[in-house]
Amino acid sequence: MIAKRLRKSLDSAVCIRDIFEEGKKMAAVYGAENIFNFTIGNPSIEPPAIVNETLKELLDSEPALQLHGYPANVGFPEVRRHLAEHLNQKFGCAYTEEGIIMTSGAASAIAILSNTLLDQDDEVVTFSPYFWEYKNYVETFYGKLVPAACDPRTLQPDRSNLEAALSPRTRFVLINTPNNPTGAVYTEDSIRMVAEVLEAKQAEYGHPIYLVSDEPYRRLAYDMEVPYLTHYYANTIVVYSYSKALSIPGERIGYIAMEPTVADFDDLLAGCTASLRFLGYVNAPTLQQKLLLRCADVAVDTAIYKKTRDVLYEGLRKIGYTCNHPDGAFYLFVKALEEDDVAFCEKAKEERILLAPGAAFSGPGWVRISYCVSAETAERSLPGFARLYEKYRNRT
Ligand code: PLP
Repeated sequence: MIAKRLRKSLDSAVCIRDIFEEGKKMAAVYGAENIFNFTIGNPSIEPPAIVNETLKELLDSEPALQLHGYPANVGFPEVRRHLAEHLNQKFGCAYTEEGIIMTSGAASAIAILSNTLLDQDDEVVTFSPYFWEYKNYVETFYGKLVPAACDPRTLQPDRSNLEAALSPRTRFVLINTPNNPTGAVYTEDSIRMVAEVLEAKQAEYGHPIYLVSDEPYRRLAYDMEVPYLTHYYANTIVVYSYSKALSIPGERIGYIAMEPTVADFDDLLAGCTASLRFLGYVNAPTLQQKLLLRCADVAVDTAIYKKTRDVLYEGLRKIGYTCNHPDGAFYLFVKALEEDDVAFCEKAKEERILLAPGAAFSGPGWVRISYCVSAETAERSLPGFARLYEKYRNRT
């Protein structure tokens, strides 16, 4: 018998991985080249060559026991120092070695922060649509995820929805830009608005509300800079991951970054350090930590994703689909052609197109296309999208 709490979330989950697996079965029957699997955000660009080169060099040059042994829970001091210096130089911040905590990607960083910050029934506000795992990262620690819907016309955070979602129980606001699932990059105006609202609510409630900036897609922004949130709101905690920037999601490496001016800095560090242990992470992978001494600022060639984005965005709009222009990440949010986005995804399967229903992201009526495919595959999917569109047109 498993925990009732877990049973409930298993039963209610719209599982995109199941659709992804179904795609693999379809590929075995029809041939991989005839299946357009847009479900999962698994990077499709090879890691930059320097990644493997550095890993090999590390294996050959570092004393094995040191490389493979337990480091401090929070990570190697030289790696944390290097990242602090790198961030200070790049974004003009004031990080110190202490404020950098190495984690197994962004997922574990958010879990660590939830464990550190939440008591039972405390609340975490996030902008919807949002990455479906957020609910799990929060509810596992007995918290409650409260969505603040973005403006449906722009997919940017909305002031009145944010104000309505905040309460004296809000411990942090989880923000993700560039965004999964919409591909939106939140503008500087949006960030200023969020900061202004949070400053006012902090003052009203008399306790800090942290802004946790989940940034696995920071390096995947096309034609624009993603505002660095510490400049707008002092109580910002940055969560970064190399999963997408370096195309190494299986390697599980990222960090939490906090400037010393963040409220209750020492308590936060102690809480995160303990949480690393209590949740069983112990420490982030050592080989991958050392990789960052050379690759902290390296990223994949995003021009490849951008090319695929352009093919899909322009192609789908030409057919007649409504979609938001995605400025980052590798996601395109498209309006389903019927109200029930799950039914629409089923219908798309007839064209061997696999999509993720928006309902899974608290964005019903829409679907997410994860365009981690080549531009050529994207191009070949367009006739199927066109037939799908025609089927709906002929219905009315
Ligand atoms: N946050 C968002 C918005 C994501 O899309 C993902 C993964 O897809 C994660 C966090 C987790 O990423 P990581 O591999 O760094 O744990």
